[in-house]
Amino acid sequence: MIIVLKQGTSQKEIDQLSETISKMASVVINPVIGTDLTILGLIGDTSRLDPTQIESYHCVDRIMHVAEPYKKANRSFHPDNTVVRVGDALVGGRKLAMIAGPCSVESREQITEIALAVRESGASILRGGAFKPRTSPYAFQGLKYEGLELLKEARAASGLPIVTEIMSPYDIDRFLDDVDCIQVGARNMQNFDLLRQLGKISKPVLLKRGLSATIEEWLMSAEYIMAGGNEQVILCERGIRTFETYTRNTVDISAVPVVKKLSHLPVLVDPSHGTGKRWMVSPMTRAAVAVGADGIMIEVHNDPQHALCDGQQSITPSAFDEIMKDIRLIAQAVGREV
Ligand code: PEP
Ligand code: MN
Repeated sequence: MIIVLKQGTSQKEIDQLSETISKMASVVINPVIGTDLTILGLIGDTSRLDPTQIESYHCVDRIMHVAEPYKKANRSFHPDNTVVRVGDALVGGRKLAMIAGPCSVESREQITEIALAVRESGASILRGGAFKPRTSPYAFQGLKYEGLELLKEARAASGLPIVTEIMSPYDIDRFLDDVDCIQVGARNMQNFDLLRQLGKISKPVLLKRGLSATIEEWLMSAEYIMAGGNEQVILCERGIRTFETYTRNTVDISAVPVVKKLSHLPVLVDPSHGTGKRWMVSPMTRAAVAVGADGIMIEVHNDPQHALCDGQQSITPSAFDEIMKDIRLIAQAVGREV
């Protein structure tokens, strides 16, 4: 971190600021005093420094960051790709992690039928929401604990590990017992209490990008979980809010190479929530694989027209089967396999 000081800053002010900085973090402070400009170069782990607190000093003109504020999620300190194990599936390895299943668990028949079908097509993990974050309080909110039970039955029937969204930190113990991977939805990406609690457990967390989150904010949320000691984090780009209204969200496909460059964590793409349109799931899946995603999360429903949630973006098991075949060559071309 470089702190540029205002012209005319006195030695006393530099000493006071240096003292404050030293209290916040153990960094080496190198002052460079020029005729026009005085700067303080901070060397060491600056992650505990609060830039806004430093900026509040009258003598500070501006702060320049030379390193990212996230450490554990940062590729600079961890050059190798992280591979996260979810049940028997690996996320982040050569083989793509294909997560498929309905937006929400609706019934035993529904979730089991979909689980068996997507497993036949080669899916590696089953998804299905039990607790649903819905915009309207009158919309279907999920089967909740009964949904978790049905997911477990579908896991037993299909052998697929399960991932489902958590909404409250109070449910963590239950999720620890029941599921193989805990999903944090876009709306909770900055629920810092939840993230902190998830940092204390030993269970993979699938962290979706927030609706309007920058990549740095997203990685800082991963850092919250990792700072607590849980380093099994999987990122998922699910589209962001832009001015475009044709699609539900705009899939930020460029986030994949950016995240791969900045972080060692695996990154998935969810073209279902990313586009909100069934017909776009296949082309966006192909794009995501081509650009280097470690896997895909797709909403699959056996009767999309009657789905209780997100039917418009859900594809049928046979369409999922087609996609699995379509991406084989693309995966090969980028050194991956399906
Ligand atoms: C989901 O995956 O079920 C979901 C609600 O997605 P998001 O949090 O990305 O909106
Ligand atoms: Mn959905």
